[in-house]
Amino acid sequence: MKILVVEDCRSNRPQLGQRVERFGSTALPAERGGDAIALFAEHHPDLVLLDVALPDMDGFAVARRIRALEKSGERTPIIFLTSPGNDADIERGIAAGGDDYLNLPINDIVLGAKIRAMHRLVLMRASLLAVTRKLDAANQELVRISSSDGLTGVANRRYFDDAISVEWRRARRHSNSIVMMICDVDHFKSYNDTYGHQAGDDCLRKVATAIRQHTERPSDIVARFGGEEFAVVLPETTIGGALTVAEKIRLAIRALDIPHASAPSGFVTVSIGIASAAPGFDNPPDDLIQAAGKALERAKHEGRDRVCRADAA
Ligand code: GH3
Ligand code: MG
Ligand code: MG
Repeated sequence: MKILVVEDCRSNRPQLGQRVERFGSTALPAERGGDAIALFAEHHPDLVLLDVALPDMDGFAVARRIRALEKSGERTPIIFLTSPGNDADIERGIAAGGDDYLNLPINDIVLGAKIRAMHRLVLMRASLLAVTRKLDAANQELVRISSSDGLTGVANRRYFDDAISVEWRRARRHSNSIVMMICDVDHFKSYNDTYGHQAGDDCLRKVATAIRQHTERPSDIVARFGGEEFAVVLPETTIGGALTVAEKIRLAIRALDIPHASAPSGFVTVSIGIASAAPGFDNPPDDLIQAAGKALERAKHEGRDRVCRADAA
């Protein structure tokens, strides 16, 4: 155990640092409060033995500074060294963030026992921290799994529904418009019929990857909207900018050169419907989704493998 030993050596006590080392610990000695704080910040000791009276500041101030240096969840035990009969110091020490006290002059048996007890606490804290970290990681993984689509790895519909509401409110606060597109794979039923469901799944993965590669901003949302449909939300984007992104996506998917014998073009293509809206209090995101859906229908009707923009409403 690393122990920060803060004592005023002008007193004629036998050096505490040497004594704690006899209990198998490593001592970091400091004579002044300022040095103690600097050592604490640099070495993160497991325990602090802290004299109440120091040449530059009192031990209570040192304890408060140490507590302020600790990150949330961290807590290094602090034992104050107090003069017997000075009960007020004990009370002040605990109030300043201390955990225990030792009366001066320090008895070696008591010192050894307290170091052992604190060592136990340190070990318990470490195992608790390890468990907490594992739990945090598991929770993050759970969030990731519950918000992503198992087949393609992009966000799932549940995530999309939450995210569009959040983006909708954000855009409303900043008086921004919000653009959304729906990309639908053309003639996908016949793709499955021709090449099998497994090949269909592979195709969807490639399409999702291509869409993700062309939506680069961290705020862009790509989600699997339904079977072979993907939704893309582009916050803070003009309709002109979004049309450029949509066209890039369309071309990128065609450039995958996935053969599709029963499609007129001979390759897998997508149709994209795109719409924009200025979020207000009386128009829900559903209107935007519907408008993008209508534009998609038009793209299909006009021959597929194209981007269609919703009529300006
Ligand atoms: P259109 O060009 O009009 O979009 O025609 P389409 O055949 O793509 O549209 P339709 O809605 O008739 O068919 C969609 C097909 O997508 C049917 C369904 O079996 C397939 N599909 C949906 N989800 C999945 C999936 O997860 N994996 C595979 N392999 N196919 C899927
Ligand atoms: Mg569809
Ligand atoms: Mg389709």
